[in-house]
Amino acid sequence: MNLKEVPLLNEQLKKCVRCGRCRTVCPVLAEIKNETVAPRGHIFMVQALRDGKVKPDAQVYDRLSNCLLCETCSGVCPSGLDIPELNEYARSYIYEKNPSMIKDALFDSIWTRPSLLRAGGFFMWAANKSGLQGFARTLGLTKLLPGGLSKAEQIMHDPVMRTARATLPVINPPRGNKKFRVGYFLGCGTDLFSPSVAIAAVEVLTSWGCEVVIPDNMKCCGLPHIANGKISTAQDLAIHNLKVFNDLELDYIITDCGSCSSAISEKRLKMLLENQGYDEQIERFCSRVHDLNTFLLDIVGIDNQGLKPLNLKVTYHDPCHLAKAQGIRQAPRDILGLIPGLELIEMQDSDRCCGASGTFSITHYDLSMKILNRKMKTIADTGADVIATCCPSCTLQLKHGSNLHYNNTPVQHPVELLALAAGQES
Ligand code: SF4
Ligand code: SF4
Repeated sequence: MNLKEVPLLNEQLKKCVRCGRCRTVCPVLAEIKNETVAPRGHIFMVQALRDGKVKPDAQVYDRLSNCLLCETCSGVCPSGLDIPELNEYARSYIYEKNPSMIKDALFDSIWTRPSLLRAGGFFMWAANKSGLQGFARTLGLTKLLPGGLSKAEQIMHDPVMRTARATLPVINPPRGNKKFRVGYFLGCGTDLFSPSVAIAAVEVLTSWGCEVVIPDNMKCCGLPHIANGKISTAQDLAIHNLKVFNDLELDYIITDCGSCSSAISEKRLKMLLENQGYDEQIERFCSRVHDLNTFLLDIVGIDNQGLKPLNLKVTYHDPCHLAKAQGIRQAPRDILGLIPGLELIEMQDSDRCCGASGTFSITHYDLSMKILNRKMKTIADTGADVIATCCPSCTLQLKHGSNLHYNNTPVQHPVELLALAAGQES
């Protein structure tokens, strides 16, 4: 990759007026207080990289990786810069020149093969249930794990035995007359760590007349690869998934995960596969993609008939990729609002990043925990019985925060609460 030849990047860099507004909102800068990790500092760094004024080395990569890709800065930029996008390109540019065998094995060989990912998930479950994980912690063996993994393995404190794909069939028939044939873009996070969300989503969709197809050959949305400097692998994954879903006869494609719906949005896919001849396929695919919440409300037209009361206080955390990247804030709240007896209590700064950002909480555990602590304080102030959110990465992070600071309060997707109110056994 040559940064001078990425048209989007060069157009965007020209637009920065150096005003510094992006600095005022960055959750990382709020903790580190160093201009080199500020969004404007990242812009300067990307420009210097493009112009050959700094070397594309590991040190520069580390500076740029102090970013959650949360899009908070872009939301206030008067010139409309997509600052995380520039950062992602720069990371890939540097990574190409400083490849790592471990990263290649993880992102190219394992994270592109769902069966290997599932095997890894099963290993985590077995280590946890057999006591091996606890035993290794007691002996201090987990401290031998590379990088931040020694601390970050605590986030996976409750792995699951059966993934969503191992539990749900490929074809899930509708109850009653079929209204729509819906493809389910089932992301890795939900599949491996929150299968109950997928089960609830299928339960709700089928009971409202949708036939739900979960293609067994779909792969990761590619967002973890983009965040870790592996844009070319993300391109391969996107091309694969476009073919898988476009080859199926589907009325709609839905996903429960805010990060997946952001990664498979038209804007992102067109940027990722710019000038590669996929625009028509992207438009065919994206014209049918919907976030699960908006799909249930706007297209299926669900209502509160037959829902039993849930006497719960619930607070909702806005995932960055759903709220800031796509502007979807109201629909999850409206889903919760359908449930009789449920009281929604807004936390302060509900769209402030929780510090998870996919693999960020693993690669930058200590910084991620500082950002999480702020979030958990605002959650604790609500006195909620349940924390709701629409992203498996946020869910893992908030569960970890809840485990550490908030009496293990459950974290659930709005569709799980909806399914519960509709009579699904928890
Ligand atoms: S994307 Fe988020 S973490 Fe990264 S520079 Fe912008 S505000 Fe800061
Ligand atoms: S807010 Fe936008 S224009 Fe202002 S310094 Fe940041 S990136 Fe540049």
